[in-house]
Amino acid sequence: MRTPIIAGNWKMNKTISEAVSFASELKDRVAGVKNVDIVICPPFTALAKIADALSGSNIKVGAQNVCWEEKGAFTGEVSVAMLLEAGCTYVILGHSERRAMFGDTNETVNKKLKAALRNGLLPIVCVGETLEQREKGVTQDVIKGHVQGSLAGLSEEEMKKVIIAYEPVWAIGTGKTATRQQAQEVHLYIRNLLSGMCGKEVSDGVCILYGGSVKPENIKDLMAEQDIDGGLVGGASLKPDSFEKLVKFNER
Ligand code: PEP
Repeated sequence: MRTPIIAGNWKMNKTISEAVSFASELKDRVAGVKNVDIVICPPFTALAKIADALSGSNIKVGAQNVCWEEKGAFTGEVSVAMLLEAGCTYVILGHSERRAMFGDTNETVNKKLKAALRNGLLPIVCVGETLEQREKGVTQDVIKGHVQGSLAGLSEEEMKKVIIAYEPVWAIGTGKTATRQQAQEVHLYIRNLLSGMCGKEVSDGVCILYGGSVKPENIKDLMAEQDIDGGLVGGASLKPDSFEKLVKFNER
């Protein structure tokens, strides 16, 4: 009932020409894939060209951030309308790197989320605890704060369009993956939180992705868990070969 999503977060990697050649190769490699929503999120500069290169394919494009304002004196920012015109369908919000280094908070993520939803851009909202928080035993408190703060004030209709990515910070780019049991436990906790916010029916339909050193070798196991509906993938999304394997997780 929930279509799996495999989304690649390229972070600050690939120039426009590198991105376009990746896209042309990936397009052919995954042309036959059905029942998986495939998304790549390149840097802003490559969005329009990559969206052109992928037009008519089964791969959608997402941005890695957006501004909540519509237009005006906001140097360095990019609006929802700009992303839509560049060909974006999705936007990643509140990634832990943005929370840790660029000042994103639950409040700003919430404003960005509402701006995206107002205009039909599908948000992938990232939540997750640090190693210190996990070791202190406050994982659930942190996740609760991220989910309830970032998603505050949404209607049921809006909540249906939200995608959540659980990304334990200690697993991002470290090669350390959460075990499928650790991930499932938090995913179920998130789904129960959502159920408290908007009811079981809506929460049952929300896609919850796992992110943190997802690779072709571990995706199948993770995807076998009841509440893991896909992956948000950094490092392993940068090579067409490994991204293809991730997208085809259920064919192996
Ligand atoms: C990410 O950037 O969201 C991520 C999960 O990175 P990696 O897959 O490299 O851990």
